[in-house]
Amino acid sequence: MKRWLKYVSVFTLLFSSIFYWYLLDGRLTNGAEFEIDITQLRQLANSVAGEKPSEIQVEKVAQFYFFSTLAMAGSGFKTLPMGVYVFRLRSPEGDIIIDSGYDQAMATASHADFFVPAYERTQQALSQANKIVITHGHKDHIGGILRHKNLAEILPKVMLSKEQLDVPESIRPRFPQGVLESYKPLRYENYHALQAGVVLIKTPGHTPGSQMIYVQLQTNEEFLFLGDVA
Ligand SMILES: [Zn+2]
Repeated sequence: MKRWLKYVSVFTLLFSSIFYWYLLDGRLTNGAEFEIDITQLRQLANSVAGEKPSEIQVEKVAQFYFFSTLAMAGSGFKTLPMGVYVFRLRSPEGDIIIDSGYDQAMATASHADFFVPAYERTQQALSQANKIVITHGHKDHIGGILRHKNLAEILPKVMLSKEQLDVPESIRPRFPQGVLESYKPLRYENYHALQAGVVLIKTPGHTPGSQMIYVQLQTNEEFLFLGDVA
C-alpha cells in the first residue's frame, strides 16, 4: 500500500471512531452512574432549621443553538435551541441562586441570542442573594458570576465545591487573577443540606464537579435541578 494511502486509512479510521464514540453512541460512560436516595434527600431537606423556599423564579438570559446529537448522542443533526437559565429560590431564610448564565460578550462568542433586561435582573439578584450555587463550571452557568461587576462582594456567598475548582486548567472557571487566593471551596460527600428545603447532590459526569440541587418548597412540592446531563 502506498504510504499516503496508509495515512489516509489510519486517519479515516480514527476520525470515524471518534465520531461514533462521541456523537452516535448513546451508551452511558463507565463511572458516571450514581444513585439518588430520595428518602435521605427528604430527611436532609427537613434537617435544617428554618422555613423552606416559597417560590422558584426563572430567567432565560440567552439562547444558543447546536446539533441535537451534541446534547444527546445518537439523536441526529437537527438544530436544537438551548436556553441559558438562572433560577432564584425565594426563601424567608434568604434567596438562593442556582446558576448565573453568562454575559453579552460570552453569549456573542457562542453565537447566542442575548436578553439584556433578563440578564440585568439576574445580576441584581446575585447581589441580593444569600447563597449562590452552580450546577457545574461551564461558562453558560458560571459566567454571570465571573463577570459580575461586584465579584469581590458576591464571592463569599458563592459556594463552589472542591470538585468544581480542582479540574484541569482547560475547563477551570476563569476567575480574574488572584481572586480565589483565600477562597475556601465547599467540601462534601454525596449530599449537602444547604438551607431548609435545599440539598446539593454530587453527580459527576457532564463535568467532574457537576451537582444537582433538590428543592422542597413550603408546599412540599419537590424539584430537581439537573444542570446539563449528558
Ligand atoms: Zn455544561
